[in-house]
Amino acid sequence: MDYQALVDDVRSDVHAYRGSGKVASYIPALAQSDPHDFGIAIALADGTTYISGDGDTPFSIQSISYVFSLGLALHHVKSALWNHVGREPAGSPVNSIIQLEIEKGKPRNPLTSSGALVVCDQLIGKRGIEETCEELLAFLRERGDAADIAIDERIAMSESRAGAFNRSLAHFIAAFGNLRNAPEDVLSVYYRQCSIAMTCRQLARAALFLAFDGTDPAKGDVVCTPSRARRINALMLTSGHYDNSGDFAFRVGLPGKSSVSGGILAIVPRTGVVCVWSPGLNEAGTSLVGAVALERLVERTGWSIFV
Ligand code: GLN
Repeated sequence: MDYQALVDDVRSDVHAYRGSGKVASYIPALAQSDPHDFGIAIALADGTTYISGDGDTPFSIQSISYVFSLGLALHHVKSALWNHVGREPAGSPVNSIIQLEIEKGKPRNPLTSSGALVVCDQLIGKRGIEETCEELLAFLRERGDAADIAIDERIAMSESRAGAFNRSLAHFIAAFGNLRNAPEDVLSVYYRQCSIAMTCRQLARAALFLAFDGTDPAKGDVVCTPSRARRINALMLTSGHYDNSGDFAFRVGLPGKSSVSGGILAIVPRTGVVCVWSPGLNEAGTSLVGAVALERLVERTGWSIFV
């Protein structure tokens, strides 16, 4: 397959949609983003990457970070994580608090805001905030093959200032006894992990182990067990796009994770990873143009897992 032609063709396919959707407005840095931006990257088994459009433009990875922090938390606490967070789709907006009350402080799954806060808390464990953030950064630099991946501290600061929802969630979870660290420490790691700046190319490269049974096929590193990779993919398929996960599975049919910044990471088992980015969002907070691009890509390649 001519992969460069593929990413260029998908970019042309979505040309008419460029500028559609609404950019996130809860912090100035995201409110100022241009909905016309569009990037796509594909990473393959040998580590080769192909990009089109703004595939080398960094953006804050926001909730795409949940996938990587989940992988690291499972590495540290193993299946004990599931005592603190569930594995069922939420079917509610990303920062919903209602189910937390019903389920006594145990979030429905690790890919909602509340679930990601609990994962963050478990990832911190008995360590400090700095050490935890450093571990996540080192992981992403190694996997993403880019030594300069860093936190955009300006975004982290605005996330914190605008953080009423997340602050409410963290304190609510703590009230049920499901946080072992101080809510403000958990929030500090959370805002910083959401503010890590990466490009489509780096994200696609970083997630390659999820497409190849937990092993980075290009470097030969065993990142996690095959069953853990399979389970992370299952969660991405069922819960990776807030209350839009069913529609994404219906239209695209790949395990994926959307972010409020307009990124979507999509895993193509045994083939590679695709990452798209376009800041205009649909009603549920998934990149509108990004989802269309993945739909077209799957039509062109037959890469849906539901062949
Ligand atoms: N940092 C954001 C928040 O939790 C958004 C995460 C996301 O991409 N949905 O408020």
